[in-house]
Amino acid sequence: MDPQLTAYLDAARPRQVDELMAWLRIPSISTLAAHKDDVMAAAVWLRDHLQSIGLEHVTLIDSGTQPMVYADWLHAGPDKPTVLIYGHFDVQPVDPLDLWQSPPFAPEVRGDNLYARGASDDKGQTFVHIKAVEALLRTTGRLPVNVKFLIEGEEESGSRTISAYVPQHAAQLAADAVVVSDTHIIAPDQPVILYGLRGIWVAEITVTGPAHDLHSGNFGGTIHNANQALAEILAALHDRDGRVTVPGFYDQVRVLSPEERAVLAQVPYGEAQVLADSGAPALYGEPEFTPVERIGARPTLEINGMWGGFIEPGFKTVIPSQAHAKISCRLVPYQDPARIEELVTAYLHQLTPPTVTIDVRGRRGAPAFLTPYDAPPIQAAARAYRQVFGNDPVFTLEGGGIPIVNVFQSVLNAPIVLMGFGLPDDNLHAPNEKFHLPCFYKGIRTSVAFLHEMAQL
Ligand SMILES: [Zn+2]
Repeated sequence: MDPQLTAYLDAARPRQVDELMAWLRIPSISTLAAHKDDVMAAAVWLRDHLQSIGLEHVTLIDSGTQPMVYADWLHAGPDKPTVLIYGHFDVQPVDPLDLWQSPPFAPEVRGDNLYARGASDDKGQTFVHIKAVEALLRTTGRLPVNVKFLIEGEEESGSRTISAYVPQHAAQLAADAVVVSDTHIIAPDQPVILYGLRGIWVAEITVTGPAHDLHSGNFGGTIHNANQALAEILAALHDRDGRVTVPGFYDQVRVLSPEERAVLAQVPYGEAQVLADSGAPALYGEPEFTPVERIGARPTLEINGMWGGFIEPGFKTVIPSQAHAKISCRLVPYQDPARIEELVTAYLHQLTPPTVTIDVRGRRGAPAFLTPYDAPPIQAAARAYRQVFGNDPVFTLEGGGIPIVNVFQSVLNAPIVLMGFGLPDDNLHAPNEKFHLPCFYKGIRTSVAFLHEMAQL
């Protein structure tokens, strides 16, 4: 890296942290209506900041339920690629508040970490790219590629505004790569590039037996208990090896090539780590797949909740009329949430005996996301990581999802570079969220290196 830029970045560290702390002080919780003004205040802060570092066309977009901010710098030349950088400035609620060692909106540096709600998810990781662009503009007066920012305030509450905006502004947002830093790496010296995220489908199930709760002395032995019937139905959804038994469930699941299995085998996350992280006594799931493959490349069906009958202290000898469950499926690429809803619903009805009835209400499907890991922008990100972290990144698939990446991919038809700078123990959505400051500083250098690598494509 250019010595002038290195010197600039070394000297800028305290100021970069101070600025991030100012943004983190704004309690921009998008899931709570009481914080609507705070989400707007975080957008205004961002707009003013992007203006102050020399970006152009800086716009606060207030077209939906929550604000977004757009900015760009488009003077690299028409032969140079364009990078669209996405992030979000809204945050999760902070309860339980008493478990925080310092107040969530009073950012505090302790040791190597900056503690605050949003420090890692996602103000801190978004700020990485803002500071990279600022450093290049301040030291060279220009950027090696054209850069656009689109930063939203609604990621934690459904991304509705941006999901409507992107398809309507495809030309304004056109890019050769979309960079998203809203994920984590494995360790401070082991970067990760995600090339896929699982999708989801959820449903609530109600099993009804008798018209009302019954006395088990008077009716026991003649009526099918709704709790028991629900347990029998749910127990039939997996075989002994943990495979989902719903007919057709795996029909659209892609078969992993030997080459891709070799790539995933590089990820240093195995059985021992899953046991340590989960506290479970033994692993469960499809034995012919590794834990990394099961988490990223295989679909699941989980029972998230079950309730029914008498659950208060003491005893009540009742045959409950109704029993309930919430289930969800993590979906992998090419599984269609609507098709999965049909298959699971039909199978639940098929499993239901004539002694009870079943009602299945499916909701909120999002498909999985997959981008080719050999796409040139992703390989450019890999080279940038290697330069700054000293190690090649591993490529992997992750279990959770970021819904907007599907919209970017389908509308902009550009590779999505999921370049994380968080750590697995950043306490996202939990008390004592933090950002590891060495990752913040290395992230800024990686972003600079990435923009230079993109310029070579
Ligand atoms: Zn996030």
